[in-house]
Amino acid sequence: MNISELKEICSGPVLKDEPMDRHTTFRVGGPADFFVVPENTYELSELIKYLSACGYEYFILGNGSNLLVSDEGYRGVIISLGRNEGTAFTSLEYKENDIGMDIEAGAGCLMSSLGKLAAKIGGTGFEALSGIPGCTGGACIMNAGAYGREMKDVLSAVEAMDKSGNVRIYYPEELELRYRGSRLMDEGLIVTRAFIHLEKGIPGEIEAGNRAYMQQRQDKQPVEYPSAGSTFKRPEGYFAGKLISDAGLKGFSIGGAQVSEKHAGFLINKGNATASDVYRLMEHCKKIVLEQYGVELEPEIRLLGDFSTLVRPVSPG
Ligand code: FAD
Repeated sequence: MNISELKEICSGPVLKDEPMDRHTTFRVGGPADFFVVPENTYELSELIKYLSACGYEYFILGNGSNLLVSDEGYRGVIISLGRNEGTAFTSLEYKENDIGMDIEAGAGCLMSSLGKLAAKIGGTGFEALSGIPGCTGGACIMNAGAYGREMKDVLSAVEAMDKSGNVRIYYPEELELRYRGSRLMDEGLIVTRAFIHLEKGIPGEIEAGNRAYMQQRQDKQPVEYPSAGSTFKRPEGYFAGKLISDAGLKGFSIGGAQVSEKHAGFLINKGNATASDVYRLMEHCKKIVLEQYGVELEPEIRLLGDFSTLVRPVSPG
């Protein structure tokens, strides 16, 4: 991989051996070989074509809020779209029409920024989603949801790029949005922009709604510790957090990783966790829940890098 070629393609930063604990809400993870910031769809497309031609692996990063990167890091190129102010991926525009508000959000816009804009312009329907600490692109591919609302309830279309660097608009009926998944995820499409439709509402009420949902998060979730939110998907007919709690694992820790005492669905970094600690704790929860309840927990968070050398946990810290 030639760093000067990457710099020719991307006008944003191009970094080598970038520690990923700086870019994940878990605050763990070793270095990525390269970390690059394309500033617009053209650069992103050129980058994808270049990396594909070189046969080099890449990974799209939003806000890193659903991600566990291994301690050895990632042997490939991290393409960062999230939170890079001034790029096309953080642009946020809206139009009002007779039936409501249409927002066009770059894939790197934070969900909280959309929530704030919705309150300002009087667009209702996004309140429950506004506290999800990710970017729009990441939220689209996994159909993120909270408090009975999901992205699929507000999306009118998504602009996405395929593995050849071609961009097109995908309409809801093509997106196959389902519980924490979508066609975008299945096909490895890169979201560049999301089109969101909201009903007309009253700004003050929308803002109060955003605040109320945020308060619920603060009351119920261990937001004071680094984490990646709910570690496991909801198994059909169960709640992962309840199974983990009923299995007696609340507060259980391995190294610096702990099953949150406040919400057992969250694994948290108590301050000095490694990715290996978190991974071993995940495996331990899976094992105990399977043994006790016969339910297989499936990770909701994405694992990036090599975890294959880690054995199952034996010694809690
Ligand atoms: P990242 O973590 O950066 O990436 C996650 C995946 O999305 C990766 O596979 C990545 O490649 C892919 N991706 C990111 N951007 C793009 C793009 N533009 N195009 C294609 N692929 C992309 N989730 C919920 O659903 N509901 C919740 O209520 C919720 N609460 C949370 C609370 C806390 C405290 C935390 C830390 C997390 C929570 N999450 C929740 C998880 C997380 O915020 C969401 O999954 C969010 O949508 C992830 O977005 P991100 O930008 O951080 O994605």
